[in-house]
Amino acid sequence: MKIKELFNRGNVNFSCEIFPPKKDADFTEVFDVVDRISRLGADYISVTYGAGGSTSKKTVEVASYIQNKCQTTALAHLTCIDSTPEQIQTQLAEFKANGICNIMALRGDKPKDFTGHAYYNYAIELIKDIHAYGDFCIGAACYPEGHIECAHKQEDIFHLKEKVDAGVDFLTTQMFFDNNLFYKFLYQALAAGITVPIVPGIMPIINARQVKRSAELSGANMPARFLAIADKFASDPLSMEQAGIAYATDQIIDLIANGVKHIHLYTMNRPNTAEKILGNLSHIIR
Ligand code: FAD
Repeated sequence: MKIKELFNRGNVNFSCEIFPPKKDADFTEVFDVVDRISRLGADYISVTYGAGGSTSKKTVEVASYIQNKCQTTALAHLTCIDSTPEQIQTQLAEFKANGICNIMALRGDKPKDFTGHAYYNYAIELIKDIHAYGDFCIGAACYPEGHIECAHKQEDIFHLKEKVDAGVDFLTTQMFFDNNLFYKFLYQALAAGITVPIVPGIMPIINARQVKRSAELSGANMPARFLAIADKFASDPLSMEQAGIAYATDQIIDLIANGVKHIHLYTMNRPNTAEKILGNLSHIIR
């Protein structure tokens, strides 16, 4: 199923992101994560793509398992910054051969000392190549607080509009911890003429140090309430998990109360967390 079709339904959808195993030996573990998330009724499951294609084969294998073994829609991520057009063509052929028709088209982080090259420099170039190759449903990334590389948020939104106009069916946001920043971004995007669905990506704070580090790297604002929770419970994993689940649940309830129709959960391969959050929302989602 093409993910863009989900957005025409009236109900609230939810999806989850997982990452492929780092070692071949860990596939069983990841397949178990996929089984549990599928059983939760996720509308789709996205699978990240390692920088430099380091785990590209694993992305295909996990996405294929989601799609063909679990009968759940898969969204395979694909980055381009350190791929050649030939490598991208090979990757797209593999997606097609495995029945994967949804791609999250990304640039990927720039390698150190990157000075630009002859092929892919931005996600928009990948998006154009995917369209030229075949009929895929395409998602892309967006940044409610602006992408870390971009000095001016207005410029970031300008490039986002160009990217969407190249043929993006929906956008998924970077993690954020203050819903007001997301609502402001929705208005700014709309004002710029971006009308595709924008799916909020929610990252539960389960490992406080890890989430703080990712937030710092991505430039996500950490509100006082977030910092108080992270500081208080960082060294008490069970309390941190409970507080993180409550924080994410609160964020999602507020989003849905304000009319948001799709929630994307960064699961960090912890099905337990997804189960508990969804359990808190059993009357609200579905
Ligand atoms: P782009 O859309 O190309 O934007 C990157 C920057 O370039 C922005 O600052 C933009 O404003 C600017 N820009 C765009 N076009 C131009 C132009 N023509 N001229 C000048 N500036 C321009 N990374 C992975 O490695 N694997 C993953 O699986 C992965 N999944 C992700 C999923 C989501 C939902 C998100 C939000 C991010 C994900 N990332 C992943 C991280 C992503 O690869 C990085 O954030 C990367 O730095 C930017 O990728 P992009 O596709 O947003 O790039």
